[in-house]
Amino acid sequence: MKIAILAGDGIGPEIVAQAVKVLKALARDGLRLELEEAPFGGAGCDAHGDPLPETTLKLARAADAVLCGAVGGPKYDALPRPQRPEQGILRIRKALGLFANLRPAVLFPELVGASTLKPEVVSGLDIMIVRELTGDIYFGEPRGRRMNAHGEREGYDTMLYSEPEIRRIAEIGFRAALKRGKKLCSVDKENVLETSRLWREVVNDVAKKYPQVALSHLYVDNAAMQLVRDPRQFDVIVTGNLFGDILSDEASMLTGSIGMLPSASLDAGGKGLYEPVHGSAPDIAGRDAANPLAAILSSAMMLRYTFNKDEWACRIEAAVKSVLAQGCRTADIYEAGTRKVGTGAMGDAVVAAL
Ligand code: NAD
Repeated sequence: MKIAILAGDGIGPEIVAQAVKVLKALARDGLRLELEEAPFGGAGCDAHGDPLPETTLKLARAADAVLCGAVGGPKYDALPRPQRPEQGILRIRKALGLFANLRPAVLFPELVGASTLKPEVVSGLDIMIVRELTGDIYFGEPRGRRMNAHGEREGYDTMLYSEPEIRRIAEIGFRAALKRGKKLCSVDKENVLETSRLWREVVNDVAKKYPQVALSHLYVDNAAMQLVRDPRQFDVIVTGNLFGDILSDEASMLTGSIGMLPSASLDAGGKGLYEPVHGSAPDIAGRDAANPLAAILSSAMMLRYTFNKDEWACRIEAAVKSVLAQGCRTADIYEAGTRKVGTGAMGDAVVAAL
């Protein structure tokens, strides 16, 4: 199992080091891994003048999976757009054909107080949002600005999905549901959008292959409402790029703590890029204060979704749960009565709990 490690900037290297610690601990128990690091984001600009240096892309292409930290920081904010660290992320997603974004929103029982929702509504929350990442109104043509017949300025975009694009993301949704609670909710706006009408038809067709999965459909406005009204009704949600962008942020915030949220972006063959949802947090970088659990949980997703090593993924997740149950907290999730630890100590605690 060949893994490219792209730690990036800010807290990226600090949190990725903890995920690597965890993977190396599993390697000592027999998991066969090969890890190789390369500069990425601002670090790529510093080393090679490019946020995604050729050698880094080559390594990422050759690997089975990529583990990223985060990129960006004030030092790079004045660079021209193509050299901005964030361009590295967009380019690597495109180069690797990563069209499926998986974002779990899990609320650990110990952190129920961090959510803005009442404990009785949100405790036990465990949702997976599967978002299409390379199509929809963000990429559809034509798009642009023009003057209309009345001499007024107009902006326009095109919402567009082809049947194969819908089919492949639906497949990912059904397969994710099979690995979890076997419920899939497809979110669209079928009552007003042609794109959504096709979306629903194709999802219903793919469903015939997965009789074990209970499929439902919701309009996106209702889905947004249901996520705050009764989020535990959901297991896996599959949706397009635009709706998924909004709903995945909404769902992740139900958990209240950005330092806990992993993500995966997958290609058609299961190769994936795994990264925390959060950014490089320059405000706390270099202070041993970042929460490494999102990065550690990203490595668990990697074992599950790219390598099909569910048992090893569960071991990491169980270790994280156990560390939280012991009262270990980084500053972002600290509350009275728990024990504040730094980034490195949190990583060590997870390794000890394995
Ligand atoms: P951010 O996610 O980096 O930080 C937002 C807030 O959350 C900050 O207060 C930060 O301290 C805190 N935070 C984030 N991760 C944390 C963790 N693991 N533990 C504890 N606290 C944590 O978002 P931002 O401040 O808007 O962006 C900072 C930089 O990151 C920018 O350059 C931005 O472009 C970049 N960014 C990168 C990615 C990525 O690499 N995928 C994503 C988002 C933002």
